[in-house]
Amino acid sequence: MSHSIADSTLLQSIVDAHQPDFSLYTGFYRDVHQHPEISAMEEDTAKKVVAHLERLGYTVHTGIGGHGVVVVLQNGNGGKKILMRAELDALPIQEQTNLPYRSQRRMIDRYGNERPVMHACGHDMNMAALLAAADLLKSASAKWTGTILILFQPDEGETSGARDMVDDGLYDRVPVPDLMLGQHVVPARAGTVAIKPSGSVLVAADSMRVRVTGGPCENTVNPQICVDPIPLSMQIVSELQDAVTKEIGPDQDATLACWGFWAGEPGNDHVAYADMLLDIKTVKPEIRRRVIDLIKEKFQNDCRAAGMPRDPEFNITVRAPLTSNHDDVGGPIAHVFRAYFGEKMTEMAFTRACEDFSVLGEVHDDVAEPIPTNHSPFFAPEVDLTLKTGTMPWHLQL
Ligand SMILES: [Zn+2]
Repeated sequence: MSHSIADSTLLQSIVDAHQPDFSLYTGFYRDVHQHPEISAMEEDTAKKVVAHLERLGYTVHTGIGGHGVVVVLQNGNGGKKILMRAELDALPIQEQTNLPYRSQRRMIDRYGNERPVMHACGHDMNMAALLAAADLLKSASAKWTGTILILFQPDEGETSGARDMVDDGLYDRVPVPDLMLGQHVVPARAGTVAIKPSGSVLVAADSMRVRVTGGPCENTVNPQICVDPIPLSMQIVSELQDAVTKEIGPDQDATLACWGFWAGEPGNDHVAYADMLLDIKTVKPEIRRRVIDLIKEKFQNDCRAAGMPRDPEFNITVRAPLTSNHDDVGGPIAHVFRAYFGEKMTEMAFTRACEDFSVLGEVHDDVAEPIPTNHSPFFAPEVDLTLKTGTMPWHLQL
């Protein structure tokens, strides 16, 4: 922005003068919550978002990287270009709340499987807040200059929608932003906010598929004397975290988990191979590379030592890149949060999760019941206060 909103009184006066009609957005929230759409299938949700943006007078770009939506509000000359993002998709979870607007929907996902669907990560709230902010920003356009990009991303669930939008020519249609802001509803007390002014916020996550191949053994017709890939693979997996921690040190935030293990076929006494899906979470690029190399080495060395006829095979995909805040952006926002929210603002704790935001918001002592976390079938944010909090035009500080 060409000028910065230095004090919270001025910010409050702008918000008070340009408050959107929140009933429009609580209505949107409840509708989208009751009619969620699974990742990469967000057609109707995108249409609902577009309808609100068009009503506000925005020119809307649609169908980017699937059902992605973006608008640009260029307001005066100069100022920064700021992108704000929300997510369109819901999760394959069976809702178990008793809300009157609970989802009972089932959908066929992109893989052809019928799944229950629920906005258990709160993307419905993130969307409602961004739409309400789009309303407020338009209404208050005499109070700021700059360029705002308001973006609704598909398929965050499999962390590929952002890439799909960029690959589909997002920045041929809209300017490249100078900075980007994302906010996410988390299981903290409604009306509170948390931010980490600088540094890593969410871990990098990689998926590694490993195949350990057993026989055929050479010089024998008896498959039983071959090295069985199942116990060997189980042993390697059980030793993996310790082996990595020992090499890189316990202070270097690298966690490993085995998320899948498949081996053997019914009726076959010879196990050809064992397939594993490993989840790797790290916070530093150089540690990430070392951890991946260490895992490969351990599999290779142990397979060779056990006399496996083949080296293991690896297939690595980036599930989520590291998320970290730049202090030029996080610093001023933290400053205005503190001034505006006082006690209701906390510093966000670092989490090793890349999608599970459950520990990001500080839960206050006077909350009697534990708040169901994102991805819980009981996830149910308090709508009005959360939406109002999520609508605040924080970028005006930048
Ligand atoms: Zn989410």
